[in-house]
Amino acid sequence: MADGKVRILLIDDDKHNFIITRALMMEIAGEPFQIEWVATYEDGLKEIRRGAHDVYLVDYRLGAHDGLELLAHAVAHGCEAPLIMLTNQADHEIDMQAMKAGAVDYLVKSEVDASRLERSIRYALERQRLLKALDWERYLLHTLMDNLPDSIYFKDAQSRFLRISKSKAFRSGLQNPEEAEGKTDFDFFAPDDARRAFADEQQVMQTGQPIVAKEERHVWSDGREGWVATTKLPLRDKQGRIIGTFGISHDVSELKRIEQALREAKEAAESASRAKSDFLANMSHEIRTPMNAIIGMTELVLDTRLTASQYEYLRMVRDSGDALLALIDDILDFSKIEAGKLELSNTPFALRESLGDMMKPLGLRAHDKKLELAFHIHPNVPDALLGDVNRLRQIVVNLVGNAIKFTECGEVVVDVAVEAKAGEPADELADLHFTVRDTGIGIPQGKLAAIFEAFEQADASMTRRYGGTGLGLAISSRLVELMAGRIWVESEVGRGSTFHFTTRFQRAASGTAPELEPVVVADTLALVVDDNETNRQILQEMLSNWGMRPTVVSSAAAAVEALTRAHRDGQPFRLLLTDVNMPDVDGFTLAEQVRQTNELADITIIALTSGDRAGDMDRCDELGIAAHLMKPVKQSEMFDAIVAAMSVNTAEREPAAPGVTQPAAKFASLRILLAEDSVVNQKLAVGLLERNGHSVVVANNGKLAAEMALTQDFDLILMDVQMPEMDGMQATALIRKQQQQTGVRVPIVAMTAHAMKGDRDRCLAAGMDDYLSKPIRPKQLFEKIAEVLGAAQTASESPSCNSDVPTALAESDEATAAVGDQENATPSACETINWSMALRGVNGDESLLKAVIDEFLKESPKLISEMHKALDEQDAKSFRRAAHTMKSSLRYVGCPGASRAASELEQLGKTEDLTPAPAAVNLLKGQLERLRPALVAFAAGEGMLKAT
Ligand code: ADP
Repeated sequence: MADGKVRILLIDDDKHNFIITRALMMEIAGEPFQIEWVATYEDGLKEIRRGAHDVYLVDYRLGAHDGLELLAHAVAHGCEAPLIMLTNQADHEIDMQAMKAGAVDYLVKSEVDASRLERSIRYALERQRLLKALDWERYLLHTLMDNLPDSIYFKDAQSRFLRISKSKAFRSGLQNPEEAEGKTDFDFFAPDDARRAFADEQQVMQTGQPIVAKEERHVWSDGREGWVATTKLPLRDKQGRIIGTFGISHDVSELKRIEQALREAKEAAESASRAKSDFLANMSHEIRTPMNAIIGMTELVLDTRLTASQYEYLRMVRDSGDALLALIDDILDFSKIEAGKLELSNTPFALRESLGDMMKPLGLRAHDKKLELAFHIHPNVPDALLGDVNRLRQIVVNLVGNAIKFTECGEVVVDVAVEAKAGEPADELADLHFTVRDTGIGIPQGKLAAIFEAFEQADASMTRRYGGTGLGLAISSRLVELMAGRIWVESEVGRGSTFHFTTRFQRAASGTAPELEPVVVADTLALVVDDNETNRQILQEMLSNWGMRPTVVSSAAAAVEALTRAHRDGQPFRLLLTDVNMPDVDGFTLAEQVRQTNELADITIIALTSGDRAGDMDRCDELGIAAHLMKPVKQSEMFDAIVAAMSVNTAEREPAAPGVTQPAAKFASLRILLAEDSVVNQKLAVGLLERNGHSVVVANNGKLAAEMALTQDFDLILMDVQMPEMDGMQATALIRKQQQQTGVRVPIVAMTAHAMKGDRDRCLAAGMDDYLSKPIRPKQLFEKIAEVLGAAQTASESPSCNSDVPTALAESDEATAAVGDQENATPSACETINWSMALRGVNGDESLLKAVIDEFLKESPKLISEMHKALDEQDAKSFRRAAHTMKSSLRYVGCPGASRAASELEQLGKTEDLTPAPAAVNLLKGQLERLRPALVAFAAGEGMLKAT
């Protein structure tokens, strides 16, 4: 149709017919057709093959051939143009044959007019165009159905196959897709699979909803297996009614196989890892057993006589053994954590005590390197917690250990604060933020994250210098995670590192009453001397929290200046807290200067040291240092030391080992009831008492104690205050009530952990006679026993308490024996005179001391009568003054114990409640009488030895 006209070829052996047809075409409006003509069968066939025409008009009669033959040929040669048959007469038979042979239309020549001709040609062309389009559609569909590797199907409402793709046919074992028609899944699959597919299809038809990419396992009826992902949709007719389903299945067998293989590999790996940690656990146990023997035996040998080099070699064996054991522990921990086997315990602990205990051994390590180690817990951090304190220790020891390891000079400071969290933290939880800051070598920026990985070290070349495995932080960070916290570090090379970690603990209900205000130390003016600023801050905060009034200075020189100024201003310090290791002038030298300065010499001194050096103890004794604490100092330790030192207020030190050189009071064997729940305390108290010839019965709680007190005879009851079942207060009240009936009154002495305000009053109110603060100190224990029994006796003339004639006792076996077997031996506090202290007071001048003692012997009876008089007149002020004088005089003459008793009288005077005073004065009188002979002897010139 190059020129827009439809090209038509007439194949007819009658030229006349051509002329007529051409004339007809010219009648058609617009002359859309252009007609050409050939007369023979052969020429017609040639033209058809050439394919240059759009429509062929073929005569039924073509010489020897007929037109039907030509049609058949044309179709066989792929003629796409429509063919129209022409005949001379209407014959239905020929019509049918023509159509069958491939003709589109059939025209009877005699009936043809222009319009009939045009209609026929146009119809033929249109039909051909539609067929071609349809054919293309079919072709595309078939391409899909024949080539796609996925299985495609169409099914009717009964799930019978209408059509399937070639690949599905192939998979189903069919030669060609048509064979599936009318069959169902039951013909190809195992019944279960077929049933499942059928149900799915029914569902799709009922709901009209597709099933998309459903993974299903197929078992073919011949036993083959595979996985497919199938999508099924409803098949609708032209009106939209659902008449079946169609769908496509994609084979995912390979994917499934890989998935399965991966799963198996993972399980295998996990079981291998379990096996590995089991192996590690076993191995570490196996190694540990002989290691323990090696270390233990080495220690035994180390205790024998060795040459210096033998000792040195063996020490290295032991140290290496220790290191190896630590390494094994690390590896075991790490593998436990990795295997998810580590569980945290949840037990109550006291944060301040626990952290203090963790710091002690680390302090030794730090001080070996001349580093300061300090720790600080903010006052608002709760103390009673629930959690795994051992694992917390592990983290702290690791971080602080690293800090010490990687620091050459400066300090390591641990700080604990409450972690500020967004939102209100629940009351029962405590989120804490720990920081460990050092002034060490620091960590390069690029390594900050990696060091928390196992076996990572910031600088591998450092390993040889510092040692270590790179496991510590990995373990710590896993532990922190288990404690619902996080860990991170900030660092600058050459300036130091700060490790942070947070933890979540539960808060434990604290067993004790709400914070009691300490009474003994409140308002005390104290001077703190330390060259390290962090320590100064911490000490200042600690003392302030107890209501003391601290001043801090950074050197001995500044301290002397402050002391002197305070004295001049009439506001002298009562306590000097000094660091021992300070540059320029150290703490001992400072103490010496203070003791030598007359107006300062009275002050109570507590020293903070960084490690015991030989001779430190002696120096403390010499200098009258009341306590000697190892840094870093726990709050409780500091408190106990201050309370003890301030109430003793003498230049005296507790012997290190109890019972070794005890200036203990000796009594006739007493029968003592000890009510105490702590086994350690029981052991200590029982040991001390029994060693001194007493017999002790232990009650584990207040209830038992009360029962025993009623059914057995005791000379004395030592009563812990905090006990399970029934506390010491209740027990005492009960005992006192029962004893009202019997008329016997056994003295009861309370033992409490802290000397808090009100404790003493409450003890006395409950019916106790006195109280002792814990920890149990041998000397105080025996003195208190002496005091109480003496007082009890004076007060009640109790027959159980032997004679009231005090006997002076020396620390000799003879004297002890004498007391032991005398029927009427008197319970008496025995105090030997501390001659070195006395001499120190007079700068070693013996004749001066004689004079002083002479004076004292005259003065003391006067002071006693002054006290009695003051008591008669209820004149607390005079009483206090007399007691004060007595207190200092007694110190000058080397009688610290009696001086303490006088000091207690002074305190009584301060409280203005003199009720317990008469008994206490009597007690002091007794003590003085016992001391008197030795003092008299000395004054008479018989010398110290004789006098003692
Ligand atoms: P290691 O047993 O080697 O000490 P850790 O896991 O405890 O293992 O520490 C990993 C590494 O992190 C250390 O080897 C060191 O390089 C670095 N590191 C840890 N703490 C500090 C610190 N306070 N100062 C400097 N480097 C540190």
